[in-house]
Amino acid sequence: MPLQLLSQRLEKIHHDGLYRSLRSVERTTPLVSVEGQQALLLCSNNYLGLAEHPALAQAAADAALQYGTSSAASRLVSGNQPLHDMLEAKLAAWKGAETALLFNSGYAANTGIIAALAGRGDIIFSDRLNHASIIDGALLSGARLVRYPHNDTLALARLLEQHQGDGLRLIVTDGVFSMDGDIAPLQGIADLAEQHQALLMVDDAHAGGVLGQQGRGSVDFCGIAGRVAIQMGTFGKALGSFGAYAACSRLVREYLINRSRSLIFSTSLPPAVLAASAAAVDLVQTEEGQQLRQQLTDNSMLLRSLLQQAGCKVPDGSTPIIPILVGDAETTTRFSARLLEEGLFVQGIRPPTVPKGTSRLRCTVMASHSPDQIQQAAAAIVRVGRELGVL
Ligand code: PMP
Repeated sequence: MPLQLLSQRLEKIHHDGLYRSLRSVERTTPLVSVEGQQALLLCSNNYLGLAEHPALAQAAADAALQYGTSSAASRLVSGNQPLHDMLEAKLAAWKGAETALLFNSGYAANTGIIAALAGRGDIIFSDRLNHASIIDGALLSGARLVRYPHNDTLALARLLEQHQGDGLRLIVTDGVFSMDGDIAPLQGIADLAEQHQALLMVDDAHAGGVLGQQGRGSVDFCGIAGRVAIQMGTFGKALGSFGAYAACSRLVREYLINRSRSLIFSTSLPPAVLAASAAAVDLVQTEEGQQLRQQLTDNSMLLRSLLQQAGCKVPDGSTPIIPILVGDAETTTRFSARLLEEGLFVQGIRPPTVPKGTSRLRCTVMASHSPDQIQQAAAAIVRVGRELGVL
C-alpha cells in the first residue's frame, strides 16, 4: 500500500512532464558520451575546465597517498586536519575576508548557515529566484521567510520597512543566479542591508573563480568588498573540486562552528578534495586563471550573440549561464532530447527548479570550448528550435 502510493505519485510526475532520471555521462571535456551518444557538453558548471587540470589531480593524488582517503570524523571530533586550516587561510586571503569556514557542499553550507543564523522570531529576506538550498535553509530555520521579487531593490526596501522586529534580519541573494545567469544588484542590496541593519549573505556558487579580480566573485565584481557578512561559495563549479565555504568574520565563524548542524554532525571533507580545492584557489589567482576567465567570457559572449542574432530569447550579459526560454516543460524535454541526437548535450530545466511556465534550456559555456564548437552548438540550437516551432 505505501509503495503503491509512491508509484501513483511518480505517475503524476510523469503525467506532468516533470519526470527525472539519471543518465550515465562519460566525460572527456568538452566532449561527452551520454549512454553511448557522443555529444558536445554544454551543461557543465566546470566553467574554467579545472576539473581536468593536472595541478588539481596531482594535489589530490599526493594528499590521498600522504593522508589517506577519509577524514573519518566531524571536524569537532577528530576530523579537523591541517589541510582544513590551510585551505581556510587561503580562502580568507583570496576573498579578502577575516576568515573562512569549510562546508561539505554548497547545499550543506546554505542549509547549515541559514538555519544556524536565523530562528524563530527572526526574518529572512530572500530573492524569489534564489537557489533551492537557500529556500530549504530558510524553511529549516523556523524564521519568517519573506521572498522579494527577483532583483527588485525597491520591493526589498518596502519589505524591510514593513517587516521590522527585535530579532535578526537576514538578506540572502545569489550573486549570479543559477538558472538565469544574471547578476544581483549587490550595491543596492548592500546599501539596504546597512540602512536597515540587516545581515547580508551572498551565495557565490556561480561567480567564484569566474567574476571579479582574480576570480574573487560577485562581491568584488560589484565593488562591495568588505560590506557582506557572509560570502558563501562552492568548489564544485568553476573551482573544479568539491565542497563549499563561507568567507566571513571570526565572530560569524565561531557562531557557525557552534550552531551549524551540517558542520557539526557530518564527516568533514577528505584530504584529496581539500588539496584539489587549495590548488584551485591558487590557480584562479594566476595569469593562467586570468586567461581562462578571458576565454570563458569570450565564449559566453559569442554564444549569446549567435543565439540572439538567430532570434532566440536570450538575455544580455556576460556570465557563462545562458538560458533559452521555452515555457512548456514537455517541449523543453523534447528540445533537449533532439539536441542530444544532434550531438549537443544541454539539459532542460523544469519546475520545481524554475517557476511554472518558464521551463528552459540552460546552456553553460566553458573556457575549454573552441569558437568552432560554440558555432556548432548555436547552429544546432537554432536548427532544432525552428524544427520544434520554439524559435
Ligand atoms: N547555490 C547555488 C546558487 C547553486 O547553483 C548550487 C548548485 N547547483 C548550490 C548552491 C549547491 O552547491 P553544491 O552543488 O556544492 O551542493
